[in-house]
Amino acid sequence: MKKNYKYVLAAVIIATAAGAFSYYSFFITKSNANAQNLKTDEIISLSSSQKTEDNIEVNGNPHDDIYESVIESQHSDKEVQKINISECDIIADDVTYNGKFTEPSVKVSYNGTVLSRNVDYKIEYDSTEDRGVGRYYFTVAMLGEYEGSTVKSYNVIPEQISFASVKTKVSEFQLDWLPSGNADGYEIAISKYEDMSVQEIITVDGCESSTYLKENLPQNSVYYVKIRSYAYTDTEDGEEKIYSLWSNRETVETKKIEVIDGVTYIDGILIANKTYSLPENYGSGLNDEALEAFQTMSDDASADGINLYIVSGYRSYWLQDSIYNNFCAQRGVSEADRVSARPGHSEHQTGLAMDINSTLFSFADTPEAKWLADNCWKYGFVIRYPQNKEDITGYAYEAWHIRYLGKEIAKELYESGLTLEEYLGITSQYG
Ligand SMILES: [Zn+2]
Repeated sequence: MKKNYKYVLAAVIIATAAGAFSYYSFFITKSNANAQNLKTDEIISLSSSQKTEDNIEVNGNPHDDIYESVIESQHSDKEVQKINISECDIIADDVTYNGKFTEPSVKVSYNGTVLSRNVDYKIEYDSTEDRGVGRYYFTVAMLGEYEGSTVKSYNVIPEQISFASVKTKVSEFQLDWLPSGNADGYEIAISKYEDMSVQEIITVDGCESSTYLKENLPQNSVYYVKIRSYAYTDTEDGEEKIYSLWSNRETVETKKIEVIDGVTYIDGILIANKTYSLPENYGSGLNDEALEAFQTMSDDASADGINLYIVSGYRSYWLQDSIYNNFCAQRGVSEADRVSARPGHSEHQTGLAMDINSTLFSFADTPEAKWLADNCWKYGFVIRYPQNKEDITGYAYEAWHIRYLGKEIAKELYESGLTLEEYLGITSQYG
């Protein structure tokens, strides 16, 4: 048996405020003489929207009868509450400083649905003047089916910066960057891991800062580094740091010391100085590549009216032994050590060093010495023991002594003004 009753939805929305859903409470009466209340849990199928007048189908039977009925909702559009802004999510992205007013990207959403600007909400800025790095506020006012307004903020963050150079030595690395006009300081992240996990953060205060030196590291080890700048800004919560985005990650590798058959190579560069020696039997003559480079250089020098020639090239361990001992006999050990290498420590034994034209101190004042100092790097040579670097190289100034390093490294040394010891981060001292 199936009976049809018509019910009227008598009491409508009681509460809609909390949460993302609206709640209705009904009590329902039969429209005929045997009217009787139904409970809300007997409304099994409820197809309702807040926007339209509802037809609610009721399936159920409080009296052991099977019946179906259509309930006409009495609630109207006027009675539907608008969604408050407090139920909406508002996200404003930071803007990178560019000297102008730039609107942040703002996303307003309700219940996962992104709302439309100027339909569901509008945004108002206090001004559209140029903006420096700092925190700024704007108003979001809801429209249409939404209501309420709120003040939100976004940051104008400093421009992203990057490393201008990354220099490595045996036990340290140096990071340099160009100071940023809108920064109050910098942060450097250093990690042993490519994903920058377990990173050390170093703060370098001061807008003019442009360098950081990381020391006391093991040789031949890899690090990953990034940099960002920060600026201080006043906010409602007091002074805060506003950060730029991180730079791209750079890989840094400290230089590697290798000893092969008693010969020391640092990042592949053969080294012989007071700290690092060569075996007695090492070497047999000038290196072919170095000699060829010298010949090209002396040809080019000739074209400039400069005559360059080698007065001393390769010297064996035993030849150096007798030279050094002569110096010692004439001048004593301490003076001999300033101007001559002990056997096994002479760069001449490497086959990569040459004395040009003269080994008298007066050579330094000749046009040939000047030409050599100005041009030898173009051919892959350096003036190995420059002026005022005796404490570092271990030797007095020798305007005539050049060392072949190849064009790339010679250029770096020439342009940086560094000695080979400074470039590699090594000492030159007798043990
Ligand atoms: Zn020499």
